[in-house]
Amino acid sequence: MIEDQRLEAEESKHMTSQWIINASLLNEQGEQVNGAVQIAEGKIQGVYYGPELPNPEQGAKIVDAGGKLVIPGLIDMHVHLREPGFEHKETIETGSRSAVKGGFTTIVCMPNTRPVTDSPEIVQLVLSKAKDAGLAKVLPYAAITKGELGRELTDFEALRQSGAIGFTDDGVGVQSAQMMKDAMFRAQALDMPVIAHCEDNTLVEGAPVAEGSFATKHGLKGIPNESEAIHVGRDILLAEATGVHYHVCHVSTEQSIRLIRQAKEIGIRVTAEVCPHHLILSEEDIPGMDANWKMNPPLRSPRDVQACIEALIDGTIDMIVTDHAPHSAEEKAKGMQLAPFGIVGFETAFPLLYTRFVETGLWTLEFLVQKMTKAPAEVFRLETGRLVKGAPADLTMIDLEQEQAVDPETFVSKGHNTPFGGWKLKGWPVATWVDGQIVWSVKTEQ
Ligand SMILES: [Zn+2]
Repeated sequence: MIEDQRLEAEESKHMTSQWIINASLLNEQGEQVNGAVQIAEGKIQGVYYGPELPNPEQGAKIVDAGGKLVIPGLIDMHVHLREPGFEHKETIETGSRSAVKGGFTTIVCMPNTRPVTDSPEIVQLVLSKAKDAGLAKVLPYAAITKGELGRELTDFEALRQSGAIGFTDDGVGVQSAQMMKDAMFRAQALDMPVIAHCEDNTLVEGAPVAEGSFATKHGLKGIPNESEAIHVGRDILLAEATGVHYHVCHVSTEQSIRLIRQAKEIGIRVTAEVCPHHLILSEEDIPGMDANWKMNPPLRSPRDVQACIEALIDGTIDMIVTDHAPHSAEEKAKGMQLAPFGIVGFETAFPLLYTRFVETGLWTLEFLVQKMTKAPAEVFRLETGRLVKGAPADLTMIDLEQEQAVDPETFVSKGHNTPFGGWKLKGWPVATWVDGQIVWSVKTEQ
């Protein structure tokens, strides 16, 4: 084994490579062991696990991790970058910067921009702006319907050819079952996934928070759980009929989970994601009429939170996403009823989940890392998300020891809308590589 490692290191001596040494790596058993990662030509050239490690070749660039954790770059399959159209909330550049600061190297942006990402031109615009930013890898989803209005399907074939990786009307649910079925048939023919924001408008009209004690106490209309689960149930039946890969966005209710679990059991191609806030907060935690606690889906009951946690553990929910949704301070100041839905997510996601679930011994570190790297990569067939030779050198270094309070003023996202301000967390990203280049580090920020 060690001999093999030496030979591999020997073979690649002709290239100038970069070595991350003294890294803590998760081995195949999920244990943290001392190791090194060799990078050359944008790819992982070797991953070496101690105790005995090969020596970097002469002239190699050395990064000493000082015992910090090095994992594959995090993947976020659900983010809002707001450009084009809402550049006062976020731009592709500021959103990508926020992503890499949070340890994310691949992010998938939602099409509810203005104009909506419903044409090849807008897909191309997003890709070219992301390339100019040169930070995270940005992959666009395109809209299912033109303008996300639910009336007419977009040109799936042309959108795929321009670089879209899936179809969704996220921000709103596709209200017509026939429209959704047509979309699924079309996506299935192209071997593309349909990703759904599940929400029946007739059940939620104008409600800012979930049904429950908070809504009752403040005299607000509540969003019932079935507004989400009705679409999940409908779409599972349509996925069964069409054979499409159907992915459920930001699952938040016990009822949706029950339906997804049953669908998986009988072999329907359904996958699902959950957000950190739906794993950590319930409607009982909302301190008052502060719109930084307003998001869609809303914070639900403690029972729903528990169901989400269990579903992630038993594999009913496949992955964690942030649903990063920046808004300006003015917009969020409009109050619980009128402010737009959404909270930012990139810069707090890993520390929140690490502190809440790994530090407390509820999850292993490996479990958390998988749900933010390998799991989304496998479901959406991405080449990144793994620490293996030949994979893109997308990496994140994390300081598991340093404890720090969340300070929204330090966010590089334009959005400071978070309910987690002041929370003391551990597990902060300190450096991020994309294709072998350091795109962000704590040192360069200071
Ligand atoms: Zn959504």
